[in-house]
Amino acid sequence: MQKTNISWADYVWNPACGCKHNCNFKGGKCYAERMNNRFHWIKNWNEPQVFIERLSEPYKFNKWENRGKKVFVCSISDLFGSWVPADFIEQVIKTAATCHYLEFMFLTKNPSRYLEFKFSDNCWIGATVTNGKQVTDRLIKIFKDTLFNRHGGAKCFLSIEPLMGSFEDSKIEDCYFDKLIVGGLTGAGADKINRSLDLKAWTEHIQSVHKDVHIKENLKKYLI
Ligand code: SF4
Repeated sequence: MQKTNISWADYVWNPACGCKHNCNFKGGKCYAERMNNRFHWIKNWNEPQVFIERLSEPYKFNKWENRGKKVFVCSISDLFGSWVPADFIEQVIKTAATCHYLEFMFLTKNPSRYLEFKFSDNCWIGATVTNGKQVTDRLIKIFKDTLFNRHGGAKCFLSIEPLMGSFEDSKIEDCYFDKLIVGGLTGAGADKINRSLDLKAWTEHIQSVHKDVHIKENLKKYLI
């Protein structure tokens, strides 16, 4: 577990690395894959690995100094990707439940897998979208079933990153995410693309329909 500059978290905990989603935003490959190319955390980004020995890392943190701190789980992978063994995910969730003095933020592009697990009260479950059309009835039902039919205390959030389209007339207007996180496109050529998008109007709309919206620094300069 390491401290992070990610503005909505205090630490990242990466018991897995690598991803098969192959997200390719207009700015190129995802940030995590670009970093892996640079630092060679694992040999092949498309052959993700899990690390049993990292499961105990949160136990090593002083519980009094770190009470309430937010831990982003798997910033360089998708823990709920279809390729990750269920028993490994169970062990991650179990560690989170045991470390009840921390808050664990799970984020995935495959939220249907949340339905397989139960989360403790100190967990946040999140999904990533880039425009309003991706907030489908199916997505909302997954959160509803995971949070209310299976466990009561966990919270849910939506990561809108990179913001690439309007959320007007979308389902975020009448659903119940506890928090929205909005960020801009990064990477080669991102500045030109960001400037060509209507980011200010889209962000203002999101802020008008949700009370807890966290705007990332990489978006703020486009909102002036
Ligand atoms: S899901 Fe995340 S880690 Fe995986 S390719 Fe997409 S942006 Fe990268």
